[in-house]
Order: sequence, then structure tokens, then C-alpha cells
Amino acid sequence: MGLKDELRKLVELQYFDTEIYSLKEKKNIEKPQELEDLKNAFEKRKQQFSSFQEKVKQSQLKRKELELDLSSKEGNVRKAQGDLYQLKTNKEYQVKLREIESLKADVSLLEEDVINVLDKIEEEENRVNEEKEKLAGAENDFREKERKIKEELKSLEIEIKGLEDKRKIITDTIDRNIFPVYERLIAIRSGVAIAAADTEHCGACHIKITAQQINEIKMYKDLVMCENCVRILYIKEDIL
Ligand SMILES: [Zn+2]
Repeated sequence: MGLKDELRKLVELQYFDTEIYSLKEKKNIEKPQELEDLKNAFEKRKQQFSSFQEKVKQSQLKRKELELDLSSKEGNVRKAQGDLYQLKTNKEYQVKLREIESLKADVSLLEEDVINVLDKIEEEENRVNEEKEKLAGAENDFREKERKIKEELKSLEIEIKGLEDKRKIITDTIDRNIFPVYERLIAIRSGVAIAAADTEHCGACHIKITAQQINEIKMYKDLVMCENCVRILYIKEDIL
């Protein structure tokens, strides 16, 4: 068979290979990236939720600290009040009373702090509960999308397999000297190894082709490659 016939088969083969190439891009790059992005977004939400929980924990610690402090200051007040009965002079008594006033002022400041931290804890716990529901929703959403993508990946695999079986029928008939050239190009030229040249341009990269090159193509003696994108060239009308 002549070169023209071989080129005709390559064009037919490339019809499958371009499709296979684009399906493989989806299966190996786009879909896994989509899945990765969804995973990351969900992980981020989980981390955000943990940070809300962590805030409650910190506030609870603060509350314990304040309550301990409060109970110790209340003890001081009680002790000072007990001391009152043992004082001998009015002056000592007045000094102690002032001391007690000052201790009581500390106590009421601390009581305020405790109330504030309790309010804060309530707010933060409400937030955690709200976020918990949202997170559960986000998790369902994520699982559902993940399931869909995995299904898509499966059907892409089946589709690719089907096309590869069909291409095999053609490849078995192609000249053993020409086929490896095509195979190498299809792998490194984004699924396009052979390009139709019109009267002036490469159909793939659109660079101008000389009349001399057109003549060489039309002889169909040797493979003619585009000098710019290095793809096999043919003239569409010749192999219809
Ligand atoms: Zn080109």
C-alpha cells in the first residue's frame, strides 16, 4: 500500500486518539483536581469548625481560672471579716474595714468577669452548634460530589477502553515503519500527530508552508513534517 493509504489510516486513527487524549486529560488531570479541590475545601471547613471548638475550650479554661481566683478572693474577704472581731482599737478597725471594702471591690470585678466569660461561652457554644449542622451539610454535599466524580472516572475508563479497542483494529493494519513515528508524536503533541495542510498553512500550528513543501507532501513518497510543530502533514483533498 502507498503512503497516501497509510496517511488515510493515520487520520482515521487520530480521530480516536484525539478523543482518547481528551478523555484521559479528564480522567487523569481534571477530575482528580476537581476531587482534590473539593477535599481541600471540606478539610478547611473542618479545621474552621475545630477552631470554634477550641475557642470554647479556651473560654472554659478562662472561666475555671476566674472562678478559682474568685473563690480565693472571697476567702480573703471572709478572713478579713473574721479578723474584725479581734481588733482592739477603732483605728485598726477602720483600717480593716477599708481593706475589706477594697477586697470586696476586687470580688465584684471578678464576678463581672465571670459573668462576661459565661456569656462568651454561651455565644461560642451556639456558634459551634450552628457550625456543626452546617458542617454536616457540607460533609453530605462533599460525599455526594465525591461519589459522582468517582462514577465519572469509572465511565471515563470504560469509554477510553472502548476507544482503545477500536483503535487497535486500525493500528494492526498500519505500516510498521510509519506507525512508531505517529505513536511518538501523538504522545508528545497533545493528541494531534498528523495535520491537514491547506494550500498555505499547517492545520495544527498555522505556520506558513512553502510551495516546495506542498509539492513534497503531494508526492506521498516520504513523510513530510511541519517545520514548526513537527507533525506529519497531508493534504485533505488527497486522502478523502
Ligand atoms: Zn505545524
